Amino acid sequence: MPDIYDPQNIFARILRGEIPASPVLETPHSIAFPDIAPQAPAHLLVLPRGPYVNWDHFAGAATDAEIADFTRAVAAVCRMVGADGYRLISNAGAHGMQEVPHLHVHVLAGKVLGRLIER
Ligand code: 5GP
Repeated sequence: MPDIYDPQNIFARILRGEIPASPVLETPHSIAFPDIAPQAPAHLLVLPRGPYVNWDHFAGAATDAEIADFTRAVAAVCRMVGADGYRLISNAGAHGMQEVPHLHVHVLAGKVLGRLIER
């Protein structure tokens, strides 16, 4: 998959303040806010602020400071909502059915989440 970042994607626009979100966490390199169409009682999205398309792009191109900050931001959100457990999902590309081409981790919690994927 090419690591070509589209600066007009919806999360880039949220990060620029062009579209509102309600952040639950903001750090120097990361932000977290609720998913607009929650799939669980708690469904938060955690994003790095930098222009990374997906996990492998981020892991290869981000600075150590960005990676540490983002990893800890995801963990902080897990601690916020996942006392009884949680699931992390990061979709990438066509087969991953990624809708928004800016890296984000879904943090899902608040109920028994069922099997990982459809069989
Ligand atoms: P993906 O399929 O790319 O992993 O997930 C993208 C997610 O972004 C979807 O769960 C969708 O509901 C969410 N989403 C799309 N547009 C917006 C928006 O404008 N605001 C928020 N908060 N979430 C959005």
